[in-house]
Amino acid sequence: MFRADAELCDHAVDLCQRLLRIDTTNPPGNERVAVELCAEELRTAGLEPVVLESAPGRGNVVARLRGTGERAPLLLTAHLDVVEADASKWKYPPFSGQIAEGCLWGRGAIDMKNHAAMSIALMSRLAREGRRLDRDLIFAGVADEEAGCEQGSGWLVDHHPELVRAEYAIGEGGGFNIELGGKRFFTIQVAEKGFCWVRARAHGEPGHGSMPREDSAILKLARALTRLGERGLPAHRTEIVSEFLASLATAQPRLLKPALGAALESGLLQRIVRLVPNPSIARPMAAMFANTAAPTVLRAGSKTNVIPGVAEAELDGRTLPGQTDDDLLRELRSVLGPEVELEVMRSQPPVETRPSSSALYDAMRDVLAAREPDARAVPYMIPGFTDAKSFTRLGARWYGFSPVRLPHGMRFADMFHGHDERIPVDGLRWGTEVLTEVVMRFAGGG
Ligand SMILES: [Zn+2]
Repeated sequence: MFRADAELCDHAVDLCQRLLRIDTTNPPGNERVAVELCAEELRTAGLEPVVLESAPGRGNVVARLRGTGERAPLLLTAHLDVVEADASKWKYPPFSGQIAEGCLWGRGAIDMKNHAAMSIALMSRLAREGRRLDRDLIFAGVADEEAGCEQGSGWLVDHHPELVRAEYAIGEGGGFNIELGGKRFFTIQVAEKGFCWVRARAHGEPGHGSMPREDSAILKLARALTRLGERGLPAHRTEIVSEFLASLATAQPRLLKPALGAALESGLLQRIVRLVPNPSIARPMAAMFANTAAPTVLRAGSKTNVIPGVAEAELDGRTLPGQTDDDLLRELRSVLGPEVELEVMRSQPPVETRPSSSALYDAMRDVLAAREPDARAVPYMIPGFTDAKSFTRLGARWYGFSPVRLPHGMRFADMFHGHDERIPVDGLRWGTEVLTEVVMRFAGGG
């Protein structure tokens, strides 16, 4: 079987570095420059990439390595935009692509120019060697994921579905290792929450600021939001979270197993998680057990001496697999009370690959098991959203698997949108080897 050699890994590292040196902070994105670089790489390898602009400067690139057509296509996809970086907080400049301390530094190093680089290096090599897999291999480098996918994957799926329709897709959301109770786990993302952004509005009698009133719109809204912050929303049991916890439990000491099972049944875990002292562990865990709604925008009044008649908040709501916008609204109403009106501003349903197992999942699990015998693959759900929201609309079964191996003490969650985002160079090379092996096992044919 074809495997990634040193040259292929070198290519991935070099391309990742060059992509990191292009500032694609969204907004405004300006992904076009990064797209041109990707297209040039693919073209040099003999492929015929298509560059498509959804708006001026908002580039997307799609390329296809034709297979024998025996089976349906596999899509490798990465967004090329990044979130902003405050250079004053970084050890090395965020768009320097510096290699130092064993790492490649830069905004996008793990989210997710690494995946674009690995995918392009692999496809280019396969194309150069004239290899034909038994599926078409498609690469889509897209704009605008960080601001909701409208100019990127959403636009591609709406306007050029024939270019990106695939049976399976591999994008971001998993592939990194986490540590729990001294054990290592590699995540394979099989689900992500939906989002449901809600406007909450309270009305009250307007009046003069010199005569405060209990029933002012601002106080009504403030009381309701305080209740939301204190109580949160109720726990729900979902299959994916149960599978995730069951996988964790099998690697944990015997005593813990029954306790985990019992806690899961009773919804007790949600309460236990609130007691976890480390918030960077507790917050994502808590988000796995419930729909959530975080107040993110507040709006009321414009003059210091006038009590306004209306106060509004925007809530960033997130729904678990199996839950709908209506479920979330019902839960919100019961916490916020009858005095607050709710209106959905924008929403998209959760994504879940069911069943989570498949030949592709098995390939990921087996490759990991062979290479990292002490670690275990776990099916994983993320609270945020990815381009899965778009590509699954065309029927793709999605796996978030952008493989990277992080050393002990380096946490994916800390670097994701954080200061000092970086990827260990050997972790990126390892990821290139793993991705190559997974693709070849799954689509390599005999
Ligand atoms: Zn991302």
